[in-house]
Amino acid sequence: MLTHKSNTFFLLAVLFLLSILSFYIEIKGYYFVLIFFFWLLIAVAGSGLIRMNYHLKAHSRSFSSDRKIAITFDDGPTEITPEVLDVLKKNNVKATFFCIGNQIEKHPEIFDRIIAEGHVIGNHSFTHSKNIGFFSKKKMLEEISQTDISITKFLGKKPRYYRPPFGVTNPNIAKALKETKHFVIGWNVRSLDTKIKTEQKILKRIKSRISPGSIILLHDTSLKSLRVLEQLLVFLQENNYEAVTVEQLLEIPAYEN
Ligand SMILES: [Zn+2]
Repeated sequence: MLTHKSNTFFLLAVLFLLSILSFYIEIKGYYFVLIFFFWLLIAVAGSGLIRMNYHLKAHSRSFSSDRKIAITFDDGPTEITPEVLDVLKKNNVKATFFCIGNQIEKHPEIFDRIIAEGHVIGNHSFTHSKNIGFFSKKKMLEEISQTDISITKFLGKKPRYYRPPFGVTNPNIAKALKETKHFVIGWNVRSLDTKIKTEQKILKRIKSRISPGSIILLHDTSLKSLRVLEQLLVFLQENNYEAVTVEQLLEIPAYEN
């Protein structure tokens, strides 16, 4: 598997070989630049695409052929979350919510309701800062533990799932998570529900990517996503998919005992 370590090792090995060779034959300077750019390209892709498992091992799907999938919601709780909960309840579906610590502090009663209705909770950082990719390991540890504390206050047990904001990972995030021992949960169906403008296009995207074992990423932050959820549940039923929690799909414990 291509990891940050092996990519960097490869870069250094090739640069070393080229340096040796340059004593014997003429090697143009741009070869060195080209190889560095190739390394950079892989590093950038690996930091942005959680499925590559480049900096850390993320669980992005189940490999079972059962027609089970998991619907996940990021960035809540928000004022939209109760409506999402209503739809899930009506359809008797349990989902997984990756919550932001400061959103939990803002909407404690909504967070309580997510738990009371039997959905699974995961940690999604405290601030969800746009600059989280540049945080030190110490600052990342704070992000993670602060949210663990908020969740534990309501739930009575510590979450073991962590989902990196924006799916961005890097060596500092990897080191912090190694210390906190969270399971990193990714996705293999990114709905882009916060970016794509129409519900129909979002649904089309999900339908073309879904397969048994999928983990679908949605956000409980807009009415558009709520409408997508309603139609997605109809699609799942028509196609004999069963929506379960990430814990049921992956059979990995969501909480510490
Ligand atoms: Zn997020």
